[in-house]
Amino acid sequence: MTSLTTQPYFDVHAHLADETFSADLEECLRVASSCGVMAVACCASGDADWADVEALARREWPLTIVPCFGLHPWAVAQAQENWLDKLEAVLRRWPDAPVGEIGLDRWKEPVDRGAQECAFRAQWTLAATLGRVAVIHCVQAWGWLEEVLDDLPPLERFVLHAYGGPAEMVESLARRGAWFSFAGNVLRETHLRAQTALQAVPQDRLLVETDAPDIAPPRRFCRVASRSEPANIPAVLAGMAAVRGEDPGALAKQVYKNSCRVFPVIS
Ligand SMILES: [Zn+2]
Repeated sequence: MTSLTTQPYFDVHAHLADETFSADLEECLRVASSCGVMAVACCASGDADWADVEALARREWPLTIVPCFGLHPWAVAQAQENWLDKLEAVLRRWPDAPVGEIGLDRWKEPVDRGAQECAFRAQWTLAATLGRVAVIHCVQAWGWLEEVLDDLPPLERFVLHAYGGPAEMVESLARRGAWFSFAGNVLRETHLRAQTALQAVPQDRLLVETDAPDIAPPRRFCRVASRSEPANIPAVLAGMAAVRGEDPGALAKQVYKNSCRVFPVIS
């Protein structure tokens, strides 16, 4: 069995520019690093926090921060008119940065399907043009997502963050280039549907995230219980291995390998 203490981890989705981290991000990442977390993909939510994510990514931290820039479906209505030009400019300043998080959401009201889809199409197309990975938020919109993807240029790799789609869609999405990321909420006893999807994902397409500061895992999987933090990743991944009936060390090793393939920032 692989030792969990020497195992490196990668949190593929967090919002470190969130104001809840403004006072103690250094300490939060020091604790995460001491737990083996080597890297965190830090997603922007909208044009309002691109500058904050850039500033974070320029600083020295105890671990690697991978900045991701995109317009979240919840931020589409508030975006400045020239947001797409600004997004392209920031992505060109960060040649390895993924496009995210972007997506489709039928859950959070009000839902302006036309505006969301338009923003999603533009950003996916930009990711294809620039050869970037895309980080996708999809909530209650899986059929809609597949329809739209049928009509867009393919991406070699994209991440479905906090995957909440059905197990039956895993195969077709994987064929399109999807990697499936799960957060700690999959370990809640009531989340049987998400656990079925977690079991259906091939080991070489699986990723793990915290979505920090949101989506806290059940308390027993928390290294830090006050809010969702990257330091929780090792315990969450061990919980995911139990759901899949797999050796936790072997799964952690494969998931880290997957993360480095999708976000090639660490050798
Ligand atoms: Zn997010």
